[in-house]
Amino acid sequence: MPEPREDCLFCTLVREGDHIRAADGFVAINDINPQAPVHILVLPERHVDTFREVGEFPDDEARRMLAFVAETAAESGLTDYRVVVNVGPSAGQTVYHLHWHILGGGPMGERL
Ligand code: AMP
Ligand code: ZN
Repeated sequence: MPEPREDCLFCTLVREGDHIRAADGFVAINDINPQAPVHILVLPERHVDTFREVGEFPDDEARRMLAFVAETAAESGLTDYRVVVNVGPSAGQTVYHLHWHILGGGPMGERL
């Protein structure tokens, strides 16, 4: 696993955050500024800046990351939910460590 980045908020939270769930290489935390009744972030331990670099994940790790997202939603009691990855500033990305938003717990509206 590559070294964590000292200056990266999410590398820090992977190491010492308040994890609601953790598995080999991945953690889930509650978003500090929730946009839905349930708003969870899944953070891979491996630091890549954005989803554009997801190809840097070994195949098995990428598969397990997706499974971890689905399992986290299920364990949080969600059956219907939205999974979002913001990629780049004009798409709303503010933290440059790949992360998956899981949003649910209420009606979601039709807009993305
Ligand atoms: P994005 O805008 O897609 O990069 O998502 C970054 C998310 O991180 C936002 O939803 C923030 O509310 C959330 N966030 C920022 N700082 C923290 C923190 N210390 N703990 C939990 N969530 C955070
Ligand atoms: Zn990082």
